[in-house]
Amino acid sequence: MQCLMCNRVISTQLTLAQILNFGPIIEKPICDDCAAQFDYLKYPICSGCGKQQLSEDLCADCKMWQIKNDYLLHNRSLIAYNDATKQFMQQYKFSGDFRLRRVFTSPLVDLIKQMQPDLVIPIPVNEYTWETRGFNQVSGMLGDITVNPLLQTVNQNRHILQSHKKRQERLLTKQPFKLALHAKEEIKHKNIVLVDDVYTTGRTLYHAANLVRQCSPEKLKSITLAR
Ligand SMILES: [Zn+2]
Ligand SMILES: [Zn+2]
Repeated sequence: MQCLMCNRVISTQLTLAQILNFGPIIEKPICDDCAAQFDYLKYPICSGCGKQQLSEDLCADCKMWQIKNDYLLHNRSLIAYNDATKQFMQQYKFSGDFRLRRVFTSPLVDLIKQMQPDLVIPIPVNEYTWETRGFNQVSGMLGDITVNPLLQTVNQNRHILQSHKKRQERLLTKQPFKLALHAKEEIKHKNIVLVDDVYTTGRTLYHAANLVRQCSPEKLKSITLAR
């Protein structure tokens, strides 16, 4: 079997337990060298967005959001947005390599379960992305977790272009989402976790959170793969 990122052959070394159990051999999607390129976030982290830093104080982005909004979104992320993450996102999201969806499923699912949500709402992709990519890269990574698509996109061209925008332009984007039918009833008094792939400025998640908060959730947090 080949590594999905560098294409090198991964040799499967069976342990004695695996041989004796005759159990299924779980194949790794990427090799150990590629896996070692990802930086798992370590404490201390920003108590707001989960970015790794030198203290638990709010980072500059979170301070800005706190002034702009009357609340702070509690976000936790798994890995740093480094070169390996960029390459991974390029191959998974923009080249649409669906096989990569399994690489972070297990730790992401663990992170979500720790938050004990009633509903998991993925950040939606617009119709254009559906047509070209054919899948939602966020839901794709979540394995057996049941997702509730209670947010939908409104503007066809805005969200896809978000990744090509400069920081200032991103912060100014208008609300790209709307609530799905019955979202208000479903979200009311529930523990909600929003999931996205990358937390960059926080703009996308705060747009989503603003809508969810209109539905009176009991709790609202978010999780992203990268920060
Ligand atoms: Zn590799
Ligand atoms: Zn922060």
